[in-house]
Amino acid sequence: MQKGGMLILSGPSGSGKSTLCKHLQENIPHTYFSISTTTRSPRDGEIDGEHYYFVSQEKFLEDIKEGRFLEWAEVHKNYYGTALAPIQEALESNQLVLFDVDVQGHQGIKKHYPFARSVFVSTKNQQVLKERLEFRQTDSQETIELRLMHTYREMQHISEFDYLIINDEIERAKEAILCIAKSLPYTQNGEDWSSLCERWLKNLSV
Ligand code: ADP
Ligand code: 5GP
Repeated sequence: MQKGGMLILSGPSGSGKSTLCKHLQENIPHTYFSISTTTRSPRDGEIDGEHYYFVSQEKFLEDIKEGRFLEWAEVHKNYYGTALAPIQEALESNQLVLFDVDVQGHQGIKKHYPFARSVFVSTKNQQVLKERLEFRQTDSQETIELRLMHTYREMQHISEFDYLIINDEIERAKEAILCIAKSLPYTQNGEDWSSLCERWLKNLSV
C-alpha cells in the first residue's frame, strides 16, 4: 500500500489553514491531523485534545527536556510544539499526516522528513487578513495587531514552500488543497521507492 504522505500548511494567522485542514479531514479517508501542544489559552469553542493539547509552560518545558517534540517554536509570545510519537505511528499506518504549523515548524519537520510537502496559505493582501481575523472574533485587537506584525516575517519564507495557495475564493482554495493532498501518495518518499526498486530487481512481489 502506498503511503499517505505528509502535508504541512503554514501561513499568516487568519489565512485559512484550519478551514483547509478541516476540508481535507472531511474528504480524505485516513487523514491524521497533528494536534499540537501549546501554552496559549483555548479560544471559545476550542477543545483540549481536539484542537490543541493546552498545557502549562512548566509542562511544555518538561516535554522539551524529555525530547518529546519533533519541533517546537515560540510563536506570538506562546510556545507551540509537535509531538514526535503520534506522527511516527500515523506514518507507519499509511495515513496522510497533516500539520498546521508556523514557518519555523515547517523547517523543523522538513529537516526530519525531507519527503514532506508543504503549502503556504495566504490572503491576497493584508487588509483581507485583518478583516478575516476581526470577523473570526476569537482574538483581542491587541492580539490581532501582534499577529499582523508577524505576517511580515512569515511572508519572507514563501519561497521555501512547495506550493502557494492564495485563499481568495474558498471553493477554489479547497479544490487546490484537495488536488495537492491526493497527489502525495505518488510523490517521492525515499523508502517506498527504493524498496520497490530493490524488490523489483530481485523479482520479488511488493
Ligand atoms: P487560520 O487557521 O489560518 O488562522 P482560519 O481557517 O481560522 O485561519 O480562517 C480565518 C477566518 O477566515 C475564519 O473565520 C474562516 O471561516 C474565514 N475564511 C477562511 N477562508 C476564507 C475565504 N476564502 N473567504 C472568506 N472567509 C474565509
Ligand atoms: P493559533 O494560535 O492561531 O492557533 O496558531 C498560531 C500559529 O502557531 C500558527 O501560525 C500556527 O500554524 C502555529 N502553530 C500551531 N501549532 C504549531 C506547532 O506545533 N509548531 C509550530 N512551530 N507552530 C505551530
